[in-house]
Amino acid sequence: MSLSIIFCGKCASNLVDSGFETETTLKCVDCSNSKDFKIGKISLGDDEEKILALAKQDAML
Ligand SMILES: [Zn+2]
Repeated sequence: MSLSIIFCGKCASNLVDSGFETETTLKCVDCSNSKDFKIGKISLGDDEEKILALAKQDAML
């Protein structure tokens, strides 16, 4: 399994608002770009379970 991380296509920031809580589409927090994005996929290997566990922990707070 791998994780996908969204980057801004203009300033390469990964501070992208996914619109999870709103109806809006993607928007870069840094430069307000809302059209140009790139997605990087990373394989986590042995760290995957650890990272998923941390994400779940954070989600439950
Ligand atoms: Zn940007």
